[in-house]
Order: sequence, then structure tokens, then C-alpha cells
Amino acid sequence: MFDATVIEKARAEGAIIIGKTSQDAFGFGTFSTNVGLGFEIPKNPHDIKRACGGSSGGSAGFAALTKQTHASIGQSTGGSIACPASFCGVAGITPTYGRVSRFGLIDYANSLDKIGSIGKTVGDAALLLEVISGHDANDSTSLKQEKEEFSKLVPEKLKIGIVKELFENCDAHVKKECLKAVDSLGMKTEEISLPLNSKYGISAYYLISTAEASTNLARYCGMRYGLHEKLEGSFDEYFSKVRSNGFGEEAKRRILLGTFARMAGFRDAYYLRAMKARTALIKEFKKAFSRVDVLANPTMPLVAPTFEAIFKLSPLQQYAMDLCTVPANLAGMPHASIPVGKHENMPVGLMLTADHMGEGKMVQASLAVEALK
Ligand code: GLN
Repeated sequence: MFDATVIEKARAEGAIIIGKTSQDAFGFGTFSTNVGLGFEIPKNPHDIKRACGGSSGGSAGFAALTKQTHASIGQSTGGSIACPASFCGVAGITPTYGRVSRFGLIDYANSLDKIGSIGKTVGDAALLLEVISGHDANDSTSLKQEKEEFSKLVPEKLKIGIVKELFENCDAHVKKECLKAVDSLGMKTEEISLPLNSKYGISAYYLISTAEASTNLARYCGMRYGLHEKLEGSFDEYFSKVRSNGFGEEAKRRILLGTFARMAGFRDAYYLRAMKARTALIKEFKKAFSRVDVLANPTMPLVAPTFEAIFKLSPLQQYAMDLCTVPANLAGMPHASIPVGKHENMPVGLMLTADHMGEGKMVQASLAVEALK
């Protein structure tokens, strides 16, 4: 038994770890409805008929619910910190890929996974990020970096890019609340177009993430990891029984999709093409950051949906909900979701993205958004 590096770091600063919260199993989901057998689906504290978002839904839900001073840890592969932060009306920060050690985290997709922070305020989330950041020899993807005091930052005037396509595809009320917040900042703005990210982001993301997930989940074969059943039959029979009984429907869907995308004959057409698309999407972001400091768009295209509405969605419709959060995650760029208003009495989140290692600017802009209230 050992603690993840982020837990060790938080404890060393005097944090008290009070528990683990429900989330989508393996991080597979957008609503924390894929929690797996024996776990409860977290309910949105603003309206218990609605979801907390996912995959780190319990983490954001509890940050919204508790009356105590509290900050939570969340994990994001394609938006799992920003989405629940938006749906629950709290601040969520996803750092640059590699700023926070992943040692001790169960992998979903190694080239995408980040650990970040969620708090009632931007300051709380920034403080936790400051504590858990830093190089870790136990994680080969961890970045060498100077210690930055995010908790000491104050709101700053910056130039904001308004991402055209990501405002086009969302609910009119969500769009209005987000634009109103950006306007009220009184900062310089410029409309930025990210056509490649908005067109190819979701497809590239779901190919790369499921391809990596399908290899990561291979270890759950009932030997060291996964269910342990009575040992009988051949290895293949045992392996199949353990995996059929142990994985939920969403995990099975992703293993199938990811394995298909990596298969001989399909690898070039799907996985490698998605990797090339990812490079093009990063270039598009870099060009935008030569013009503006921070990009702004709605975090989610809608407010937290009801469970009734979610259970009617097809898997593809669910994946499409990640349209706004997936691009920054694919690019490994830091992003925050800050509550900006309400629709149907539910919180709306504004997402701010900065260039690699630009957490400082992102926190400064987020503090300015928070100060509007
Ligand atoms: N909703 C996305 C997915 O299901 C993102 C999940 C995540 O960031 N862990 O893959």
C-alpha cells in the first residue's frame, strides 16, 4: 500500500483527507452515471434530479455541498474536472499535462491524464494546485518546473480570445451568460476561430483515449488486477469470464473501440491519423496564443441535465457533450471552469484556457471572472 504523490504532498501541507468520492469507473463518462457496481451515482446538490457531471462528479458535488473549507482532487482526461465544476457551480483547475505527478493514479489514457483541483473558490483550487504541483521521479512524464505560488496571484488585465465555434454549438442561455461575463471583465478581446479543434477534437480524442484505455485495461485479467474468480478452464476462458463479469458496459464499449483502432490494418487509418490530427490541433492553439493570453468558451454546451434526459442519450450523443472541453485536454493545456451565472436555476461555467505552463495567467483571469459576482 502506498499513497499517490498528490496525497503525500497534500498531507505534508497539513491537509486532512476525508474520503473518496464517486466517479465514472476508470474516468469513462461525462455524468458520473457509469459508477460501477456497489457505488452510488452522485446527485447534483443544486437539484438532485440532475447529474453532477463527470467523470470527477462526486469530487465537484461535494465541494459544492459542504459548508466547510474544502478542496477536492479530480482527474481529467478529456474534461472530467471542468465539466463537473461547471455543472456544480464550483471552480475546477486542470493543469498543463505533466505539471502534477500521476504516480498512484489509475490510468485511463496515459498521454492525456492529468490530476487537478476543485474548490468553492478559484483561490482554494489554486492553493491545492500549488501544493500538488512539482516534478516527481516516480512519473516519467512529470515536468521539471519552478515552484509557482498560484495562491498569491491577484486578478490581472489580460487579452481574452473568444472561441467562435465553441460558442456556436451551445444552448443560447449558456452562451449569453458566458458572453456577459467576458464582456463585464472590460478586458481586450478578440474573436478566435479554432475550426480544426471544433471539427476533429471529439473524433481524435475518442480514438486516442480508447486506444490507450484498451491497453491499460488489459491488466484487469484476474491475476494481479481485476475480479478474482475460481481458477478453472484455460487462461483465455478465465480471462474472458473475469472481464465479462467485472467490467461495466461503458468499459467494454471502450475496450472494443480502442482495440479496433489499434488493430493491424486499421492502425494507420484510425489511431495514427488521430495522432496526426492531435498535432494539427496543438498548432492551431499555439497560433491563437500568439494573439491572446487566454481563450474563453462555455465549459459545457448546457447546464447539468436530468438523469432522465441522460439515460435517453446514445453513447455518441454523450461523447458529443465534451465538445468544448476536449480540445484543451488533447493539447495538454491548462484550463479552468469558473461559475458565471445561472440558467433554470443551475450553474453555468465559463472555461478559460492558457498556453502550456500558463497556469499563472489562467488563474489571474479566473480570479477576475470570479470577482464579477
Ligand atoms: N467525458 C470524457 C470521457 O468520457 C472525459 C473523461 C475524463 O476526462 N476522464 O472520456
